[in-house]
Amino acid sequence: MTAPILRRLSELHALTGRWQAEGARIAVVPTMGALHAGHLALVSAAKAGADRVIVTIFVNPRQFDNPDDLAKYPRTEGSDAEKLAPLGVDAVYVPDPDQIYPEGFATTVSVAGVSEGLCGAHRPGHFDGVATVVSKLLLQTRAGCAFFGEKDYQQLMVVRRLVRDLDLPVEIVGCPTVREADGLALSSRNQRLSPAARARAPALFAALDAAAGAIGGGAAVAAALEEARGAILAGGFAAVEYLELRSAATLAPLAAADAPARLLAAAYLDGVRLIDNVPVPPAGG
Ligand code: AMP
Repeated sequence: MTAPILRRLSELHALTGRWQAEGARIAVVPTMGALHAGHLALVSAAKAGADRVIVTIFVNPRQFDNPDDLAKYPRTEGSDAEKLAPLGVDAVYVPDPDQIYPEGFATTVSVAGVSEGLCGAHRPGHFDGVATVVSKLLLQTRAGCAFFGEKDYQQLMVVRRLVRDLDLPVEIVGCPTVREADGLALSSRNQRLSPAARARAPALFAALDAAAGAIGGGAAVAAALEEARGAILAGGFAAVEYLELRSAATLAPLAAADAPARLLAAAYLDGVRLIDNVPVPPAGG
């Protein structure tokens, strides 16, 4: 059955009010649309963890630091609805822009610490935009749990921090990155790669995976990162924006994998900015 598409907060509240009266646990999966198997894995996890599932689709202008990126972001509502239909989603919330940013909107949610460095250093205002819209979507949907992908690991950390700091009554569930068979992390931006660039794109994950393995095996961090950077460039990427080892729990920079760690990178291929990250196995483990 096709889920109803709701565009107004009043419609959403009417529905979630009924569900709450029934004692249902509501899950939300926030997305920007152009849905792929990574998003659908979040929806499946949400179905397994809640009584009612809302998928939100909102291309949030406030989290784009680059107007060209916003203009080129794919918008595919019809095929998104078709992909969601077999999954038994209960509602798709596609808010009209004024339902998120009414006239006179003047509030920004800003999370310090985990939002600094990595993507935060290169995309000014991005995580303020994310934190603001996610706060609104969590409150508007009255969700008891919300599902986010590890693909956007720093975003997941920002959301966890904001929910803790503001005592929002929502459980945040992180889900593993879904990849193509060749290792490339699924992303709506992959659609913008030329066939030649698409063939080269797995070099990013391959380099991260090799470096994580080397660091876990005891290799010096600086040397492993240098080698990974060289492999990404040799693989055809034009530039590596960042490539860093961070604490998996706090995102603090790490010089050695002496705590649970994550290797995170952003790099440009064919004019498209791709990000990816992998866990680093414990050294000697
Ligand atoms: P987006 O539509 O890009 O804003 O992503 C919506 C949600 O889907 C975010 O929580 C992302 O982290 C998650 N997501 C995007 N790509 C993947 C992927 N390849 N695997 C798992 N989750 C993903």
